Amino acid sequence: MLIVITHTRKILEICKTMKNHQLKNQPLGGNVHPRFSGPGTFMRLPSTDVLKGLDVAFLGIPMDIGTSWRSGTRFGPKQIRAESNMLRPYNMWTKAAPFDYLNCADIGDIAINTFDLKDSVVRIASFYEDLLKYPLVPMAMGGDHTLTLPILRSIKRKYGPVALIHVDAHADINDEMFGEKIAHGTPFRRAYEEGLIDPNLVYQIGVRGTGYSARDFDEARDWGFNVIQAEEIWHKSLSPLGERIKNDLKQSPVYISFDIDSLDPAYAPGTGTPEIGGLTTPQAIELIRSLSGLNIVGCDLVEVSPPYDPSGNTALTAANILYEMLCILPNVGSKQLNTQ
Ligand code: MN
Ligand code: MN
Repeated sequence: MLIVITHTRKILEICKTMKNHQLKNQPLGGNVHPRFSGPGTFMRLPSTDVLKGLDVAFLGIPMDIGTSWRSGTRFGPKQIRAESNMLRPYNMWTKAAPFDYLNCADIGDIAINTFDLKDSVVRIASFYEDLLKYPLVPMAMGGDHTLTLPILRSIKRKYGPVALIHVDAHADINDEMFGEKIAHGTPFRRAYEEGLIDPNLVYQIGVRGTGYSARDFDEARDWGFNVIQAEEIWHKSLSPLGERIKNDLKQSPVYISFDIDSLDPAYAPGTGTPEIGGLTTPQAIELIRSLSGLNIVGCDLVEVSPPYDPSGNTALTAANILYEMLCILPNVGSKQLNTQ
């Protein structure tokens, strides 16, 4: 009898999975079409410009005109997509099955104006205005960090000031860069000034290196930001930090902005402004997994510069981090078995 019940349960489970598969977009599998060919979308998901019915929209924002040192992030989205082609649908540690629960697609790139940063910022905000008319989570592939400002402007219009988890080697709170208010080193000061984020619910994780003054990180602390310098988390598990953040944020809408230069250049050399002494890849994965259960309303992964990434490891890491973020989105995170 017990065997029959177990068997019936198993069949029901399989039917449920099949039903989900029939309803939701799936990445093209490597046993259906070789991974080195086929569509160039994120994880070889279907590409679409129909937003209705999507839970998650992957998109590229190929730009590097906001960078201050090495350029090349305009090629980031293309390379992240290329390296993502090896990713398979199920998370073997957390058991997350994002494509069973969320309808995902790659909606292509935003057409920025590569001759005009300010116009590009307007274009990104306008694209997001349309995107956010739908109940979906946008997951952006950058592109330099300037792009987070227009995204947060649009996010604020929909959700009000949001919580922010900002993982980065840099605080990106310069007032100006070479006299310009908009650049990849200024978005979070602008976001603070414009009231796009709740300063007490901002976590800047992994900041380090050299500054223009010894108080560079303290100004944001005075605004209310929780600034966790890289040295504070060297050699440590980041799960307790994730637990602390979850405890603070509860179900507040939160945006995650992940600058790939938060990782040590040993793991992610392909970026414009590398700083030594950064996060390890396991720490980055651990941090994201520990944020499972938060009310995430959008994510970005920025600053991948393929010309400085000869092995492709930086883009591969970026693709995996995006996948890990997908695995903790609402409706997936709650179904995870393993959060360590
Ligand atoms: Mn940054
Ligand atoms: Mn950075």
